[in-house]
Amino acid sequence: MVDPLTPVLTKRWTEPRSWTIETYERTGGYTALPKALKAHPDQLIQQCKDSGLRGRGGAGFPTGMKWGFIPQGDGKPHYLVINADEGEPGTCKDIPTMMADPHSLIEGVIITSYAIRANFAAIYVRGEALHCIRRLNGAVREAYAKGYLGKDVLGSGFDLDVVVHAGAGAYICGEETALLDSLEGRRGQPRLKPPFPATSGLYASPTVVNNVETIASVPFIVNGGADWFREMGRDRSPGPKIYSLSGHVTNPGQYEAPMGTTLRQLLDMAGGMKDGVPLKFWTPGGSSTPLFTAEHMDVPLDFEGAAEAGSMLGTTAIQVFNETVSVPWAVMKWTEFYKHESCGKCTPCREGTYWLVQILQRMVAGNGTASDIDTLLDVCDNILGRSFCALGDGAVSPITSGIKYFKDEFLALCDQNSKVLAGANA
Ligand code: NAD
Ligand code: SF4
Repeated sequence: MVDPLTPVLTKRWTEPRSWTIETYERTGGYTALPKALKAHPDQLIQQCKDSGLRGRGGAGFPTGMKWGFIPQGDGKPHYLVINADEGEPGTCKDIPTMMADPHSLIEGVIITSYAIRANFAAIYVRGEALHCIRRLNGAVREAYAKGYLGKDVLGSGFDLDVVVHAGAGAYICGEETALLDSLEGRRGQPRLKPPFPATSGLYASPTVVNNVETIASVPFIVNGGADWFREMGRDRSPGPKIYSLSGHVTNPGQYEAPMGTTLRQLLDMAGGMKDGVPLKFWTPGGSSTPLFTAEHMDVPLDFEGAAEAGSMLGTTAIQVFNETVSVPWAVMKWTEFYKHESCGKCTPCREGTYWLVQILQRMVAGNGTASDIDTLLDVCDNILGRSFCALGDGAVSPITSGIKYFKDEFLALCDQNSKVLAGANA
């Protein structure tokens, strides 16, 4: 049974022309903004901290704490940047949010900008998502026309300009500092952290970078209050969450439920496994989170629950695979993706993903050798913790977890060839 307090973030998605400002206002939109503008910015930061909202882009960093890091009285401009470059394989929650309810994001942007004292915000969207860029631009124009954006927002004395920026489709530009470089007009490659963007971000000024779903939650917190938000989810991971289900499920799509909902409950909402073929393995939060199996169907999907069970919540992109799918094949496809998207800045990731693909392709083609599994794990060991950004670590997750749970399948691919070789040498 799913918590009756949800849906929150997706409640407007079924409204006719849900993306228009008329629908948004008719359904209670832009009512949090006047309340926020009457509060002191620090009160809003405190409310966000009290709500326990954590970043929905994957890492789960406490949002209010991040806002609180922005130095005040430093004389520098402050910026808000929305990471809408949703690129993690299987992740499809932010683009649907921006398509169905762009004004919840824009109202969140205005409130957050006011809280961190920023007069400029950018929404960085994947370049391929042209439909989404058009919709956001339309919504931004509507918000300007109604006085929610621009000079003297709602007569408060607060000025805010918002720009929608199209990326160019590089996965690495979802990494916040590569995104900032790209926004500044440079090639998108991760920067060394620290300094974190909170102190030195866009144009070396204090910058909050937050995910779409995180900021779209903000108007609901301002209206509902921190305690209401905490009624959903679990103690250290409160609030509602959009889980995206794809793969072998009867009804793939986005399902909103409180943090901590299990895959078993989500599958109930999605009509179960497609054609009743049993589950074999799944990703809790995109392919850079270690795989789970049928044994993990009752793991509470929040930051702590997923970590205690040996994975990560990530982007809650649940890719579901039934027992017809070969694990080494799926792992190879993900690794090909990471190799292609590696920005090449650091050696372990650039060279390591290349070799991982070589080995996996050889194994899947039936030409694996007895030492391939050890070599794969050795290369993974030399990437994990030795790469410049999270892409390197993420790339090894499907391999190490795939071998952990399904070693026999990898061995079978190696054994096949060993037998052929033994036969040839006899
Ligand atoms: P991170 O843990 O390094 O940082 C998370 C956030 O907290 C960042 O904004 C960072 O600036 C901030 N932060 C952390 N420590 C700080 C400090 N001491 N002071 C100030 N700010 C601090 O994680 P990350 O590398 O930004 O992101 C990794 C996550 O991204 C992974 O968990 C993965 O699930 C996710 N991811 C998401 C997508 C997507 O499409 N949404 C794609 C790839 C990866
Ligand atoms: Fe680039 Fe990969 Fe190094 Fe990240 S880990 S900086 S993507 S080469």
